[in-house]
Amino acid sequence: MENTATFKTWLEGMQLEHPLVIAGPCSAETEEQVLQTAHQLKNTDTNVFRAGIWKPRTRPGQFEGVGEIGLKWLQKVKEETGLLVTTEVGTADHVEKALQHDIDILWVGARTTVNPFAVQEIADALKGVDKTVLIKNPVNPDLSLWLGAVERIKNAGIQQLGVIHRGFSTYQKTEYRNNPKWQIAIELKKEFPDLPMILDPSHICGRRDTIFDTCQMALDLRYEGLMIETHIDPDNAWSDAMQQITPNRLSEITKDLKIRIDNTNEKDYQHKIKAFRKDLDVLDKNLLDLLAHRMGVASKIGRLKHEKNVAILQSDRWAHVLEKMIVNGEKNGLSQEFIEKIFKAIHIESISVQQRSK
Ligand code: PEP
Ligand code: MN
Repeated sequence: MENTATFKTWLEGMQLEHPLVIAGPCSAETEEQVLQTAHQLKNTDTNVFRAGIWKPRTRPGQFEGVGEIGLKWLQKVKEETGLLVTTEVGTADHVEKALQHDIDILWVGARTTVNPFAVQEIADALKGVDKTVLIKNPVNPDLSLWLGAVERIKNAGIQQLGVIHRGFSTYQKTEYRNNPKWQIAIELKKEFPDLPMILDPSHICGRRDTIFDTCQMALDLRYEGLMIETHIDPDNAWSDAMQQITPNRLSEITKDLKIRIDNTNEKDYQHKIKAFRKDLDVLDKNLLDLLAHRMGVASKIGRLKHEKNVAILQSDRWAHVLEKMIVNGEKNGLSQEFIEKIFKAIHIESISVQQRSK
């Protein structure tokens, strides 16, 4: 993926003072709802109007989108407001119809990105086409699957590519509808800095009150855009009612968000950041020394268990250690999620050290 810079270049060319804002309802419901929402959004920071026409619903029997007629409504939005328009495509037929109706940007949804056959079908339908395509992360936390979808679309000759981070589904209930797992997006950004990253806080949060903070996190990570579900009457939306916000609320959010700068040469900042980083470097070295020391003890335990023919995994002891660490962690202001991650990693390594030290 040598050249993924075109969408970024286009974004830079727009000379926006804020990240790209894509807003609009989860689903196009009626012509009136679409046009009213778009007209209200025209007076906000919105650059691109979104609306789902074909809705991939988890369970059958729910509203599955208005279909092709909605594309005509999107064309009207373009004519009446001048906003760019975007919709989700899940099949070659959707691509064809969206192209016929001059939709500016197509996005591939999370339930499609998981399926290489479906992505390839879309990629084949896009051959020789000059469009911007945004690819949502797959529902499961798999960076390669996300990149695979980007590569398939890129190999079809699409230059203007971006990605949308909409979080990952988990079996356990958490405060999120879809856990953001920021690390995955950060890794993608690190590997492909020219691939613009757009945050979809609506599907991450699944509720209205945490959208602002989630957007701010994205801006703290220098994301290039936001895609936020917006509806004139969110409570009565036909899909994803809990997470949609009004155009007014969207305006408040984009006004209050703090846009971060890449860096500053300001003396005071440089002086302080250098000192803090020196502290961190020392602490990191201490952490490594401690971990090595801990593994040394694990190795001795491994030899002892081997001598006495005792199994390496002692589930009760491990459950007890983890529980204690979670309580201690909380006392020190460290989240349960963080402690679990760290100690699970330490425990796994400890087991392999014990295994090797027979
Ligand atoms: C959507 O954007 O309305 C949608 C269906 O999103 P996702 O593919 O992220 O579930
Ligand atoms: Mn939705």
